Amino acid sequence: MRFYFLLLIIAIVTTSCSSRLDSHRDLLVGRKASEAPAPKRNEVQITYLGTNGYLIRSHDTSIVVDPFFSRISLGKTLLNSPYSPSPSLISKYTKLAAFPSHIDAWLITHSHFDHLIDVPPLQKQFAGKIVTSQTGKFLCQAAAPEILPTDIFAARPGKRYRIGNATIHVMPSKHDRVLGQIPFPGLIFEALADPPKRPKDWKVGTPLAFLIEIAGKKIYVDSGGMLGHLPQANNVDLAILGVAVGDGQKRFAEAVRALNPRYIIPSHQDNFFIPLDRGFRFASTSNFPHVKEAYKTGQLPGELMLMDFFHSWILK
Ligand SMILES: [Zn+2]
Repeated sequence: MRFYFLLLIIAIVTTSCSSRLDSHRDLLVGRKASEAPAPKRNEVQITYLGTNGYLIRSHDTSIVVDPFFSRISLGKTLLNSPYSPSPSLISKYTKLAAFPSHIDAWLITHSHFDHLIDVPPLQKQFAGKIVTSQTGKFLCQAAAPEILPTDIFAARPGKRYRIGNATIHVMPSKHDRVLGQIPFPGLIFEALADPPKRPKDWKVGTPLAFLIEIAGKKIYVDSGGMLGHLPQANNVDLAILGVAVGDGQKRFAEAVRALNPRYIIPSHQDNFFIPLDRGFRFASTSNFPHVKEAYKTGQLPGELMLMDFFHSWILK
């Protein structure tokens, strides 16, 4: 109960000190996805979908990481209210993000609702392979039994998949603690009798990171981490690193040093309990000034960038 009470306090603080991207204009990259040209050969287009969601496209392969459009308020999350994906929001935002008609792969860093809940309906519309943990696979199958089991990969660190013209390396990761605990913890070991119906049903599962090789580029993505657990990749072109809360923020500098990227996008910083329509607002648990300071004082490699919702940027 104490945990949920503290979350409620965060909710109140969140609404009072949220801030927008305006004060970091110098770091913003990209243009509206609806106006962006398709990527050329040897280019990769990155479109930010909010939370930890990205559409990653080359000229012939499309990959989506952690898409989340059907947001729920923090109040309803705390009450563990009934919750299901919203077809109208999915339709609206996939258009705003200029989704292609077919997606090759859905890469899911862990199976909390803000990473996985929209994936079953999205896969039914756009096809493609879902790469998630064993827990994530059981949740997807319970949510949408009509998805072919062969379209959902129960991935674990060390696995490698060739999907479209991309190679996906699955790597170990850690989930950040919130107020000392991992939210909605646990694994699922067998097929579920009922579909997930409430926020808590989306258990974390085994956290994963991905190294994506696409169009000659290397992109590393995770949704957070903990000090001392270094990414197992280096010399990447782009590092997308979750910094939603303290653990991810504390390990930011060492993770960037290990990855030695050309570009860095600190991720999962927005308040995902408010509708996407209200625009990007930093969550009170995020601390971008700290991330920026760590980047400057640590003289970290790579160019630090931020992206707004439904904006696209080209990695050359
Ligand atoms: Zn999570």
